[in-house]
Amino acid sequence: MRRPAVFLVLLTITTLTGAAFGDFDATLPARGQAVGNSTRSGACQASILAYHRFGTAANDSMTVRTATFRSQLEYLAQHHHTVIPLRSLISYLQTGSPRPPKGAVVITVDDGHRSVIQDMLPLVREFNVPVTLFIYPSAISNASYAMTWENLQTLRQTGLFDVQSHTYWHPNFRTEKRRLAPAQYHAFAMKQLGQSKAVLQRKLGVATDLVAWPFGIYDDEVIAIAHEAGYVGGLALGERCIVGGENIMALPRFLLTEAVRQSFRSMLPGEGR
Ligand SMILES: [Zn+2]
Repeated sequence: MRRPAVFLVLLTITTLTGAAFGDFDATLPARGQAVGNSTRSGACQASILAYHRFGTAANDSMTVRTATFRSQLEYLAQHHHTVIPLRSLISYLQTGSPRPPKGAVVITVDDGHRSVIQDMLPLVREFNVPVTLFIYPSAISNASYAMTWENLQTLRQTGLFDVQSHTYWHPNFRTEKRRLAPAQYHAFAMKQLGQSKAVLQRKLGVATDLVAWPFGIYDDEVIAIAHEAGYVGGLALGERCIVGGENIMALPRFLLTEAVRQSFRSMLPGEGR
């Protein structure tokens, strides 16, 4: 029964995200492999967690139950894992200081699902932790599952939420690159990255300069386009923490789902990885 179960999980994720799980997995560099010009080394300095949805029950594979999220926040607090803003980590990676506190963790949430304001917000307030949201503007105040612009303003006004870009409509850059001629692809990627920034500026008054790659898919070309569009940092996926010499345009994040809740501790700096 194992194989069909695994297949079903993959199928569910494929349906939910529009891309096969293995699709973005294949993009990820192997552990220990250098990305671009960077040479990674040294101890784990921080871990970036990537959530998507929250709810009382895990009704889909990307939902983390609020009870699970609460226990994770409790664990972080009890074991002195300071939750720091993503911006602090980016500044450290850019300049070398100030160094994040030992065991630091960053919380990010992709896609702008309405469960962020409905289910996640009360816990974020209770534990007083900073969160960075990566949203794609085409869904906001549009898709039934997504938050509204007012919701995002409300979250920002708490002082705990930063809002950054997840491109304009969450394309699969690998598929588009295959489909389009080089000049068309460049224009397409530039529009996805530029329009997202422009709309976030107009609707929320925020100057975004960080992008979470949809499905974790990126390559050197789209990173160069993102630089051109004014981005200084990029977030990908990858089951490892932040070490020295990271490529700031492709930082690894641990994907948090209900299925991996048992391995939460192993995702944290200084806890056996
Ligand atoms: Zn996404």
